Amino acid sequence: MVASAVVARPAIAQAIPHVVVIGGGFAGATVARLIKRLLGSDVAVTLVETNRIFTACPFSNGVIAGMRDIAAQQFTYDKIAADGVVGAPGTANLVDTQARTIAVGDGTRLRYDRLVLAPGIDIRWDALPGYDEAAAETMPHAWKAGQQTLLLRAQLEAMEDGGLVVISAPANPFRCPPGPYERASLIAHYLKTRKPKSKLIVLDAKDQFSKQRLFQNAWKELYPGLLEWVSLSNGGKVTSVDPSTNTLITDFDRHQAKVANVIPPQKAGRITELAGVADKSGWCPIDPVTFESKLQPNIHVLGDATIAGAMPKSAFTANAQAKVCAAAIAKLVRGEKPDEPKLINTCYSLVAPDYGIHVAGVYHPVNGVLNEIEGSGGVSKVDAPAATRAMEATFADAWFNTITSEVFG
Ligand SMILES: Cc1cc2nc3c(=O)[nH]c(=O)nc-3n(C[C@H](O)[C@H](O)[C@H](O)COP(=O)(O)OP(=O)(O)OC[C@H]3O[C@@H](n4cnc5c(N)ncnc54)[C@H](O)[C@@H]3O)c2cc1C
Repeated sequence: MVASAVVARPAIAQAIPHVVVIGGGFAGATVARLIKRLLGSDVAVTLVETNRIFTACPFSNGVIAGMRDIAAQQFTYDKIAADGVVGAPGTANLVDTQARTIAVGDGTRLRYDRLVLAPGIDIRWDALPGYDEAAAETMPHAWKAGQQTLLLRAQLEAMEDGGLVVISAPANPFRCPPGPYERASLIAHYLKTRKPKSKLIVLDAKDQFSKQRLFQNAWKELYPGLLEWVSLSNGGKVTSVDPSTNTLITDFDRHQAKVANVIPPQKAGRITELAGVADKSGWCPIDPVTFESKLQPNIHVLGDATIAGAMPKSAFTANAQAKVCAAAIAKLVRGEKPDEPKLINTCYSLVAPDYGIHVAGVYHPVNGVLNEIEGSGGVSKVDAPAATRAMEATFADAWFNTITSEVFG
């Protein structure tokens, strides 16, 4: 990088505050757009994003199972730019908290008054012996949507009927707690309908998981003998992998898979480490009213990267947090006190194309953390009829269309 790179700032009067947002996913794209809407010409907002096209993870399990095209997951930043947010394409690779500047890969430097980090997750490449970036090319994680999603899809398509598919699910916390089980369900649906002699094993580093009873009841009903879940207590934790033979190793067994989907341990996106806002856990402690970092002033952190108490790492959560943060930043810029928020999350999962389930909760700050408001949440009824499951599948679809059109449309 060129040390003397220009300190770029939008062509505006010096007095106007500049908010820089790093990461244009569900949290970052939302917060950038809303701050601009709330403060108009009283603020300059720049969005730094690596990719020119965003590929969404929610519903990407449907792509893996052959139910939808990857194009249905992809969105541009055109509408966000049309709202007055300045795009800075590239990867931010430096945050200087003293000078309040960040640097983008091409050497561009941007000065900020407030910085919002919404980088999502990174894989912990050092956490699972045998699993590195090269291994992910044969044993895809598909936990960031795009090329990895298509790779896993292609492997399933290429597999002969009768093959063994193995998914390994990580310990908490990780992006999208119900995600591995939705994936297992939809892959099972694909195998049942297209390759019925095949088998799917889920090796889990946990004994409990989100919407567990609903998933397990549905598996018994829809995929008996096809989908097997192995809990931590039953030796499900994968301790290493061997990509040369597509083998997942636990304390008790070796599973040689035809298709291996390794969902590895994760951490907040790397830029949070560089900014000094991630703690030893790899995630970022935040003030639950403003989402300002507890470790660095004037830097806010949103979405999957945060330690958000009881709120799960979901796109719904990321979007809700971004709305609260945008309102708080607007107040702070005006010298006003931010309001105490209440945040909602709803996570839909598909167990089959016409079988949806959900979990929902409402959260508020209590003693510096986000707690679930007692009695606010709930899950789909265990004994709901097929018509309700089918309706929930349409709700899931409607949710995806609504959130993506709100964030990118
Ligand atoms: C298989 C799967 C299914 C899921 N299903 C659901 C679901 O049904 N419902 C739901 O609510 N959630 C779901 N999720 C979870 C959801 O995808 C995430 O919680 C959500 O994307 C988090 O939003 P975010 O803004 O924090 O991160 P992201 O949406 O990942 O956005 C982060 C962005 O930051 C960019 N970035 C990172 N670092 C930099 C940098 N240094 N410089 C520039 N840009 C950078 C990245 O390119 C990316 O675009 C699912 C996840 C998976 C994996």
